[in-house]
Amino acid sequence: MSGTYGTVHADDYTVGWICALPKEALPASLLLDEEYDTVLDDPTDLSAYSFGRMGDHNVVIAILPKGTYGQVQAAVVGTNLFRSFLSIRFCFLVGIGAGIPSEDCDIRLGDVVVSAPDGGTGAFVQFDFGSQNADGSFRLKSRPISPPVFLLNAVSKFETDNEQGNAPLARYISDVEGKQAHLRARFQYPGTQHDHLFPPEYTCQATDGGGVCRSCDRNHVDPRRRAGPRPSTAPVVHYGVIASGGKLVRDPFLRDHLMNTYKARCIEMEAGGIINNMDCLVIRGVSDYADSHKNDIWHDYAALTASACAKAILGYVHPVPAQGSRKAMEARRKIEEAKRRHQAVVDYLAPYDFSKRYADVLSQRHENTGQWFLETAAFQKWLTNEGRMLWFSGMPGAGKSVLLATAIHHAQSLFARQADIAVLFAFCDSRDTANQTGENMVASLWRQLVRRRVLSEVECADLEGSYADAGIRPSPSEFTAAF
Ligand SMILES: [Zn+2]
Repeated sequence: MSGTYGTVHADDYTVGWICALPKEALPASLLLDEEYDTVLDDPTDLSAYSFGRMGDHNVVIAILPKGTYGQVQAAVVGTNLFRSFLSIRFCFLVGIGAGIPSEDCDIRLGDVVVSAPDGGTGAFVQFDFGSQNADGSFRLKSRPISPPVFLLNAVSKFETDNEQGNAPLARYISDVEGKQAHLRARFQYPGTQHDHLFPPEYTCQATDGGGVCRSCDRNHVDPRRRAGPRPSTAPVVHYGVIASGGKLVRDPFLRDHLMNTYKARCIEMEAGGIINNMDCLVIRGVSDYADSHKNDIWHDYAALTASACAKAILGYVHPVPAQGSRKAMEARRKIEEAKRRHQAVVDYLAPYDFSKRYADVLSQRHENTGQWFLETAAFQKWLTNEGRMLWFSGMPGAGKSVLLATAIHHAQSLFARQADIAVLFAFCDSRDTANQTGENMVASLWRQLVRRRVLSEVECADLEGSYADAGIRPSPSEFTAAF
């Protein structure tokens, strides 16, 4: 950062910049030309922000809550950003990702991948979003999505200048490296001696205590790396499809499958939560190759090259005046309308809601009731997923419902911040057996997944098109397929 501090109104920011990790937000903050103070009108927006200016653009840097990652959290942060900053026109999603080297794309650690459509496909593929066909093959459901044309135009202009050495990428990298003495070592290029592309079948042989690859045989070299060292260590920027998934990929066979099937150049975990709802450009610094050879030393440098590249591309985006609330209120109205329609479809497809009965029982429970049960070995084992079934039996009125409500409440609190675990339940009541059909139970589980945003609105729209418009409901097996 340099220059003066000032106070800027929330409506004067036009660019959102989303990072998953603090180590990704740090170089972004250091690249601000000026840092600003801004007070939000909305006290319910608890996201963590930094504010400032990059060139002619006022930028809000948003970061996911500490210790969280993935599409669900990114969607929450993106929604807050768009709601609190009414003039935001588009978002950059900037940070580290896994590179996919191929015969025609020599991606190395520290390089940058920028999302761009490749031929007939969009710029993004949500590769784990779909369903299994009867023959075991996978049917992808994600729609082709690309950044808007004005961002792709900026990318083209940057690419042309960068290939002639006229874009400021190298200058921005050295700006941050030279900022403060204590950060210099952290952001330095780690060196080609730490960049090994092993063949997919060569799994990690030896790690240190921290699980970091230390002593694998450097003579095992993937054929894609036969080109040898480059004449310069400056990062190369690649353009192509970004594969986004819900889980960390450490599987070189899946990595290469994504390249062969979708022409993907990079794998990351947040874009899927953002790209369906707002105009977005994803820019990832390559910190690993999505294989078993864990190596964290590229994180800071890769976060820096991605941030420097994002700032350089931003310089080619024509700034527009902040339009304040008028345009943004229209955008917000559309979001609210889409949400209402989405909720109406969910209510139609899965009308029975077990959470009412659960909430009733929980509200009547005295504090600490059932605490003893949470400490039992049987419950603890079930929590670790070793105990597949937890069976409560007892006379009517013995308190099974209260214990079950206690157990659900405890498990939901425990896993609230883990995007890959959802606690779902069906809470039956002997006074309402007519409604507790198999169909309603499965539909209720689906409803809970939707509420937890485990299923995206795109997926719901898929069911909406098939059933709600035709005035019918999916069968339990069709709901299960939607899971
Ligand atoms: Zn290894």
